Amino acid sequence: MKTQRLFFGLSLPESLQQQLVRWRAEVFPAEAGRPIAAANLHMTLAFLGEVSEEKALILQQLAGRIQQEGFTLDLDDAGFWPRPGVVWLGCRRPPRALLQLANLLRAQAARQGCHQTPQPFHPHITLLRYAPRNVALPPRDFHWQCQVDHFSLFASVPDQGRPSYRQLASWPLSVNKEA
Ligand code: ATP
Ligand code: MG
Repeated sequence: MKTQRLFFGLSLPESLQQQLVRWRAEVFPAEAGRPIAAANLHMTLAFLGEVSEEKALILQQLAGRIQQEGFTLDLDDAGFWPRPGVVWLGCRRPPRALLQLANLLRAQAARQGCHQTPQPFHPHITLLRYAPRNVALPPRDFHWQCQVDHFSLFASVPDQGRPSYRQLASWPLSVNKEA
């Protein structure tokens, strides 16, 4: 059976990816970990794992029925998860619409048999991998912003030992009334 490694997520505009990479180079020294390539900076909403074509189609149909508002991502938080050695960028106050979208996608995935971790969804963008335990985080004086008006399905494809994410489909979110 042919399967693909899939996840639902948010892509970031290329301009923001470039800004984040420049900022990361300023605030983290080289020994802080392995930087994620600019084009790979993203936010995972629901990880699906290895999925058959049939199940992927069902999940895409369900995703297409989602009616959710867009939102603004205020990236004003950073943290370190020692076990995976991940330095991440996140939101001190994640928008409700983001949490709703992720929880809906995760519930749909679980119903289709895609194992979901029991930990609550913590929206984040991985900046560095293999960070040492003593990695120093930057002062929280940064604030990156991004309007989110769609979400996407990605395939994670290894490319010379590094992951590369291929966008397979996208769905619009409705206009954010708060914006
Ligand atoms: P690699 O594993 O090759 O170092 P990666 O973690 O970026 O790279 P994937 O493992 O394919 O690539 O994961 C794709 C996305 O899904 C990433 O954002 C990753 O953090 C997330 N992810 C992977 N496994 C899980 C999981 N079990 N639960 C939640 N999110 C996951
Ligand atoms: Mg992984």
